[in-house]
Amino acid sequence: MNPSDGAETPAPTAGRHRWSRRWALWALLVTLLAALLSTLVWLAGRYESSQVQSRMEQDVVQTATDIRGALTRNVQSMQALQASSPGPEAWRVPATELLHAHREIMRLEWRDMALATVSHVETPYRLSVFERLGRDNTQADVGFACAAARRFSGPAYSTSYFLPQADGLGLEVLDMCLPVSTAGRLAGYLVATYSLPDMLSELAGRQLTRGQGLAFTEADGTRLAMHGNPARGSRAYVAQHLLDLPGNTMVLRLERQVGTPALFPNLLTALVAAMSIALVAVLALLGRDMRRRLKVEHDLADALAFRKAMEDSLVTGMRARDLQGRVTYVNPAFCQMVGLEARELLRHSMPPPYWPPELAEEYQQRQASRLAVGATLPREGFESVFMRRDGSRFPVLIIEAPLINAVGKQTGWMSAILDVSEQRRIEELSRASQDRLQATARLATVGEMASLLSHELNQPLAAISSYATGSLNLLQSAAAEAQPADNSEGLQLAMRRIAEQAERAGKVIKSVHDFVRRREQVREPIAPRLLLDAVMPLVSLQARKLGVRVLMQVDESCAPVLCDRTMVEQVLLNLARNGMQAMQGLDKSRRFDRVLILRVRAAASNAYSRWVEFAVIDHGEGIPEEVARRLFTPFFTTKAEGMGLGLSLCRTVIEQHGGFLGFEPMQPQGTIFTFTLPVAVTVAMSHEAATG
Ligand code: ADP
Repeated sequence: MNPSDGAETPAPTAGRHRWSRRWALWALLVTLLAALLSTLVWLAGRYESSQVQSRMEQDVVQTATDIRGALTRNVQSMQALQASSPGPEAWRVPATELLHAHREIMRLEWRDMALATVSHVETPYRLSVFERLGRDNTQADVGFACAAARRFSGPAYSTSYFLPQADGLGLEVLDMCLPVSTAGRLAGYLVATYSLPDMLSELAGRQLTRGQGLAFTEADGTRLAMHGNPARGSRAYVAQHLLDLPGNTMVLRLERQVGTPALFPNLLTALVAAMSIALVAVLALLGRDMRRRLKVEHDLADALAFRKAMEDSLVTGMRARDLQGRVTYVNPAFCQMVGLEARELLRHSMPPPYWPPELAEEYQQRQASRLAVGATLPREGFESVFMRRDGSRFPVLIIEAPLINAVGKQTGWMSAILDVSEQRRIEELSRASQDRLQATARLATVGEMASLLSHELNQPLAAISSYATGSLNLLQSAAAEAQPADNSEGLQLAMRRIAEQAERAGKVIKSVHDFVRRREQVREPIAPRLLLDAVMPLVSLQARKLGVRVLMQVDESCAPVLCDRTMVEQVLLNLARNGMQAMQGLDKSRRFDRVLILRVRAAASNAYSRWVEFAVIDHGEGIPEEVARRLFTPFFTTKAEGMGLGLSLCRTVIEQHGGFLGFEPMQPQGTIFTFTLPVAVTVAMSHEAATG
């Protein structure tokens, strides 16, 4: 199994786990809140109904008291009616008035001791209630009531009974019997028949509000009479109270419809509900905010992971330092570069472990000046030397920039660090190989010249040999003829010639030797003519072989040039040799055209520098277009024995001197190669002063 699999699997699992836990928390919160809110609404509703209930309880008690009070007042009115003890006829008048005033009383009877009716009046508001049943049928009830009244010596009430009426309906009534006494002796009874519905409407109905119903019921709940709106169904508030009358007990029942089942029955519930809605809204907003935060958190984590991956994959070392110069962050590339762990570097006291001890003091000063807030740092960075854990030093390029935090305050410095040791090594290598290449090219030139050399040395050597033979002959003949004095002149001449020729041969060899051995790379001011003179012996060697005439056109007023002599001589030699070889193919008839011109003159100058232009002009075959394109490519050659290095090296040398090497066709035929070299300024001025 891939080891990275094991490391990566827990991360998504943990993420999923955290996610599901967060959702579970949210679900729990919402459920709790919903439960709380519904409990609150329910409790508020309950509170309200209990309020209504207790108000109704009070109301029903009050109503019962009112009814009892009204009945007592009625009894008093009746006692007053009887007190005047008139005759049966005269009694009817005040009795009728009494019925006028009290709608609840249906009939008032004056009965004697045997309960026989002496006189009676009926309510003016109805037909006689006893019309259908007949009063006699209720004699038993009256009898019971009056017996009780006699016992109590006060008013007593019968149980209620039903009277069918002429209109098809019925009426629940009860009788009240009041003993009447004259001079302390029982003289008869006053019997009042009360209509229960009218008792409710007249004695208690006025206080009744809309939507309420008032009823008399029996103990078992049987309804006897009703006033107002009876409550239907089970959703009603009900309050009951016993109406305890002497001889009769009824239940007074107050009912009230709950009304249409409203969601928010009162202000409190509405308030609680509104608060709940607000709470839910806040919760929703909170949830949305949370979702946004989660998204931002997620994006941030992504960006962080991306940045981390980027930093870790960098080959450039990254280092952050605080304003005191202590390391606060390093990336893996930096750790690898210095061979130290991140924890060894972070917050390390000064100096850091990657500073070479011998340079620490210098670095300290450099850092102090560089890290001063507001100091401007070079964009291209600066070079320094760091030390690895094993003590080895290596060159680095450091590019530093201020570290600005989120509120725009500088908290330190950020550096990118490049290990340039490999670059330095390659530069060194290429320099060395360039040198080697030039040496090789020089040796190749020499090799090429070896044949010329042998040809050139042949002449002086042959001359030396013939002079030596001649001298030998002279000496031999002088010995034979014994005339030494005659030969001495001839011998001297021969010896001088030998010495001359030997010197000439030595010069030839020396010119080659000089060319090969001179190696010191120093730039020195040198007169252009001297450069030409130095290559001349070697150029003439080849010119003679190829039958070329060499002309020199030197502007003597040209100032000395600053150059590496050996190098420039090689350039001249190369160009001259190429020119001469280009003229080699010309047919014999045009032999007079075989002229190579070496020209020196002042070139265009500007305010800062002056230049001298060298030109090598041949009248050879010229350079075709496809050759011209690849002329300076190393190893490009059209010659069987050529190396193709000459021109590319020439250009390198001239460019190293800051000059320019180029070529153009010569009219009518041939090529002109030119290059420039800078004038040695101070020397040039002194030279001008001396000449001027
Ligand atoms: P090599 O001389 O070893 O061939 P060079 O770099 O000196 O290498 O020259 C490259 C080629 O450029 C030559 O082979 C030749 O074809 C061409 N060349 C150089 N100088 C001249 C010239 N003066 N006239 C014509 N062709 C030239």
